[in-house]
Amino acid sequence: MLGAIDIGGTKIAVGVVSDGGELLDSQNWATDPSAAFDEEIERIAGALNGICSSRGIRLEAVGAAVTGPVNPTTGILGVNAFLPNWSGQALTPALQHQLGVPAYADNDAVAAAVGEAAWGAGRGTTSFVYLTISTGIGCGVVLNGQVLRGAGDAHGESGHQVIDLDPCAPLCFCGARGCWEVLASGTAMTRRWREQYPHSPWTVKEICAAARQGDPAALSAVAEEGRLLGVGIANLVTHFVPQVIALGGGVMESFDLFLPQMEAQVRAQCGLVPWQRTRIERAHFRYHAALVGAAALCRGLW
Ligand SMILES: [Zn+2]
Repeated sequence: MLGAIDIGGTKIAVGVVSDGGELLDSQNWATDPSAAFDEEIERIAGALNGICSSRGIRLEAVGAAVTGPVNPTTGILGVNAFLPNWSGQALTPALQHQLGVPAYADNDAVAAAVGEAAWGAGRGTTSFVYLTISTGIGCGVVLNGQVLRGAGDAHGESGHQVIDLDPCAPLCFCGARGCWEVLASGTAMTRRWREQYPHSPWTVKEICAAARQGDPAALSAVAEEGRLLGVGIANLVTHFVPQVIALGGGVMESFDLFLPQMEAQVRAQCGLVPWQRTRIERAHFRYHAALVGAAALCRGLW
């Protein structure tokens, strides 16, 4: 049995995952940006120990998926916009100390990619890309059973590839204008909608529900979102020609609505690569992709 921790910008989740990738039990609570690191680690360990003792489970190891940068070798957290007090803290040594088992950590998009590659949509592939489309856009690439890492084990940020060079393109918190996340995340989709229809401040879920009822404005918003997502996906197809690109995150609850435009964009953009070999699929673990992925980090193949 593997312990799993997902430290996200809006919630912290803990759970227990079997060696086959089945999430057996979990708990979550809202992230408190002002929480002290030591106290929160004690709370995480307490919740995980509670699940284990109620089910008579002994953990072999624990993995943590973290929003923002974390060094997978040392387990030291980088600068984190959501948990500013946690920057520079040694996460895996603290978890190891509290729980008494080996601990692993990685960025949440990378962890979700590892979980999907091991047990989900990327199972059996040699080239796999995972994307989470929610308030932001996260990406993890797994090639031949290994996470693609850069210098100093850094993970790339494909969500921040620039797709619009217009000097008036929206400015992203990353410092660039016109990057994929600022144009195609769920946040971007609702921003566009609310600029156009300030009297109907709908969420992505509400726009998608209206599109399913045939609402012309909602259908047009969904098509535009699918096209913008498709531009970045097509760039990833051009770079890697992966066997599967799996899409998770809240926006992909309506995966089927966006798929036709995403596929059309791939057909239009990827002339030099065999794009027909890439399957665009919905992620298998949906809301739990990062939590299950955290457990997959313990398998040590990554
Ligand atoms: Zn950006």
